[in-house]
Amino acid sequence: MLVLVDLDDTLCNTWEAGKYSILRLIPHLIRKRKFKAFFYIITARYRELEQSRELHTLDFDKLVERFLTKVYSKIRPEELDEITDLVDRVFFSNLRLYPDAVPFLRGLKSMGAKVVLVTDSSTKWQRKKLEYLGIKDYFDALIISGETGHSKLEPHNFRLAKHIFPDDEVYVVGDRDDTDMRGGKEIGATTILVQRGYFRGRTAKHADYVVKDLTEALEVIKREHEKRNQT
Ligand SMILES: [Mg+2]
Repeated sequence: MLVLVDLDDTLCNTWEAGKYSILRLIPHLIRKRKFKAFFYIITARYRELEQSRELHTLDFDKLVERFLTKVYSKIRPEELDEITDLVDRVFFSNLRLYPDAVPFLRGLKSMGAKVVLVTDSSTKWQRKKLEYLGIKDYFDALIISGETGHSKLEPHNFRLAKHIFPDDEVYVVGDRDDTDMRGGKEIGATTILVQRGYFRGRTAKHADYVVKDLTEALEVIKREHEKRNQT
């Protein structure tokens, strides 16, 4: 039994922590007379970045840099550092595991599952989050887009997980339909969409199950697992 688990907005409140960073950034941008960046944020134009394959593998400071150079053709390195530090500080002081995350991971381990984290973004940033959240040891392997060079918009990282731990019984648990759920379907997994965070409320096209939290996700996995072992 193999379970692939997403990190951001599945196990921890990334979008919520990110929102605090953005809220804290707004007065800073206004004070620095960075009105274009301010409008980019309040009109939610960042949504256009969702489909960028490259952005899914970038480091956090590179992400901020990319955002600012998208809005301004040039930005001074000190200005950039100041903004990156601010965003990083506010982000980590608000980042939390969801209360159901550890019971979920423990539950999977007690069922004897191999648990693999499949996550987008850079190595440095994702490892920093894992360290900070203290959940690294629950995983049998970490597959991070910044390390493989493939984002979850492609099937590569999902195939890689199945290649490391070949198994007929595979589950994918994540919050995003067009990456986590679609990738899961590519490798014949049972897909479970946890509706929370940035992508909540989007239509689920590739999910076998839609649940509201990880407690429900664990129940689905237990039920499916029992069903399999009866036949
Ligand atoms: Mg996610």
